[in-house]
Amino acid sequence: MEHGGRGLSPLLAGVFAAEEQKFDVSGNMFSVGVGMAGPTIIEWGTKAQQDQFLAPILTAEHIWCQLFSEPGAGSDLAGLATKAVLDGDEWVVNGQKVWTSAAHYSDYGVLLARTDADVPKHRGITCILVEMHSPGIEIRPLRQIDGAIHFNEVFLDDVRVPVANTLGPVGSGWGVAMTMLAHERASIGGGGMYSFDQVLTLARTVADTSDPVTRQRLADLYTRFEMLRFLGYRVRTAAERGELPGPESSVLKLVVSGLYEVGGDLLLALEGASGMLNGADAPFGGKFQDLFMGQWAPRIGGGTDQIQRNIIGERVLGLPGEIRSDKQVPFRELPQV
Ligand SMILES: Cc1cc2nc3c(=O)[nH]c(=O)nc-3n(C[C@H](O)[C@H](O)[C@H](O)COP(=O)(O)OP(=O)(O)OC[C@H]3O[C@@H](n4cnc5c(N)ncnc54)[C@H](O)[C@@H]3O)c2cc1C
Repeated sequence: MEHGGRGLSPLLAGVFAAEEQKFDVSGNMFSVGVGMAGPTIIEWGTKAQQDQFLAPILTAEHIWCQLFSEPGAGSDLAGLATKAVLDGDEWVVNGQKVWTSAAHYSDYGVLLARTDADVPKHRGITCILVEMHSPGIEIRPLRQIDGAIHFNEVFLDDVRVPVANTLGPVGSGWGVAMTMLAHERASIGGGGMYSFDQVLTLARTVADTSDPVTRQRLADLYTRFEMLRFLGYRVRTAAERGELPGPESSVLKLVVSGLYEVGGDLLLALEGASGMLNGADAPFGGKFQDLFMGQWAPRIGGGTDQIQRNIIGERVLGLPGEIRSDKQVPFRELPQV
């Protein structure tokens, strides 16, 4: 309530999301603010930052983006090279980000920048909240294979940001990033792009639902949706107890990836020859073609499937970690991409 919300529980947030999904509502443009930046500011922000940033997220006045990935730093995010240097009471930021969803209509971005190159790569990173209309920011949209523009390149050239916008202590950006990524995985894991009912409607309209193979594939998909539902309850119950999203959000995200992969293929198979059509020519106006084409986004964004498996292997199953020979080496001494 103190941050402008309704003070309801994470479980009820899940109930709301499930109900919202039954309608054609696009809350996507607010998802980084509501699902990722907001919770991270609640965990790491000062009282002044919470007062300034949280309410406009809830009222949809401010749209947020995540300025993490770079051309040379994706899965190996700690290898990021964008630099922030202190000048009086301002950071001066230089570098390039890429794959920044929604940057072209965002008001603020959560930026990771290197502020100390003399310590190992995970330690010299600081998180800074950047006003996206600041002088020196150039945003170049990237058009995808499906024609849509979802993400961007963002160039930062002597961008000045007040030191008061530093989120968490200087040099603790990796911890802040882990918080935001766990929330991202949990919110991607919340699903949202399609429901089993839509698949069933399509199957009953265009396919033969008495065909045993079709029934088996539908049952497989239904089981995955149910797994997602129960995993979602588990994550939200943990949140209800005050626990932050942990490696279980990686499990959740992997289940969603599987849903898009298996579901995307099934949807077009159900359409038969019509699956080759697109747009207005295709069944349901091409909605399921869009889903098929979009299946790779959740399998990469927020950390790829392979990275989620690494996290689960190391942090859930306790398997030996990857060999990281650069862990103790100052960033400055690492070969730069
Ligand atoms: C739809 C979408 C939206 C996105 N939105 C944003 C955003 O808003 N903000 C942002 O900062 N970023 C965003 N990203 C970027 C995303 O986080 C990165 O693409 C992702 O982390 C992978 O990084 P990369 O593309 O550099 O691939 P790479 O890291 O180069 O990976 C290439 C391949 O190698 C594999 N690989 C790499 N390292 C390992 C390893 N250690 N073990 C096993 N396999 C490995 C990967 O799984 C992948 O298959 C988005 C991406 C997508 C697809």
